[in-house]
Amino acid sequence: MTKAEIGNGRRTREIIQKYGVHAKKGFGQNFLTDLNVLTGIVDAAEITKADNVIEIGPGLGALTEQLAKAAGEVVALEIDTDLLPILDDVLAPYQNVKVLNQDVLKANLPELIQTQFTDPKRPIKVVANLPYYITSPILMGLLNSPVQWAAICVMMQKEVADRLTAKVGTKQYGALTLAIEYSMTAHEAFGVSRHAFVPAPNVDSAIVVLTPRPTPLPVEPFDRQKLFKFIKACFAHRRKNLWNNLKPVIGKDHDQQDQAGQLLERLGIERTVRPEALTLNQFIELANGFHKLAII
Ligand code: SAM
Repeated sequence: MTKAEIGNGRRTREIIQKYGVHAKKGFGQNFLTDLNVLTGIVDAAEITKADNVIEIGPGLGALTEQLAKAAGEVVALEIDTDLLPILDDVLAPYQNVKVLNQDVLKANLPELIQTQFTDPKRPIKVVANLPYYITSPILMGLLNSPVQWAAICVMMQKEVADRLTAKVGTKQYGALTLAIEYSMTAHEAFGVSRHAFVPAPNVDSAIVVLTPRPTPLPVEPFDRQKLFKFIKACFAHRRKNLWNNLKPVIGKDHDQQDQAGQLLERLGIERTVRPEALTLNQFIELANGFHKLAII
């Protein structure tokens, strides 16, 4: 008799029982047990046999199995050594999957791609049901890496997904939204109830798909890292207006304050505007102007 798929609720429970698995909160372990969601993720990422896939956190292998069926090759990075023998066992039927015992935050992704995939030139997609406690560091690590991702399709807490895909002027719009927009286009594919997981987390989730920006940035920043430090300072106190957030950046020097005020005027930006009303281009123009004035 052929076995049910790993993400089938009954099969997951069998695996948990057979290997005595205790989901580790510290590693953000919530296992997906809904095949519609699992195949939905693979569809949202538009995985084909021409793709190389990196999966972060294979867990019990439920998503890995669906990826193995759809992709050319899958390399999965799992931090929890206790899960490795289980993954070895349940993924044995799939020859195109490698599971590596690695912390994704410490992994050298360009080297891993070169050494682990048979054909590293194929499009590289990241697919994951993320460990929620490190969603932002993982995303930032992926975006700051020199790898050209064909797509990043990841499940996260719904509230974080809303921040990633937020429109300018909304409460959710902030430094994270802008960091994504800098290099990618984000869209929320679908929401997922907490009841699709074992154990159920305390929050609902959503799948976000990031694809490369179709057009380059109209204005180049003087320095990407410093731009984002500047943007963070602009959002330091969300209830304060832009000028009040900028005060600690500008300092007490009256000349500098005047010059900064004139710069805002030249750019058509009101001092009383809220930071969430500014577009990425406006932040870049502002940061470039502050740099020219030797303020940052
Ligand atoms: N993919 C599985 C699923 O969908 O059922 C499990 C997802 S679970 C939300 C997150 C997984 O990420 C766990 O297997 C956990 O052990 C793993 N993980 C946590 N921190 C990690 C890290 N820093 N690097 C790699 N994997 C990690």
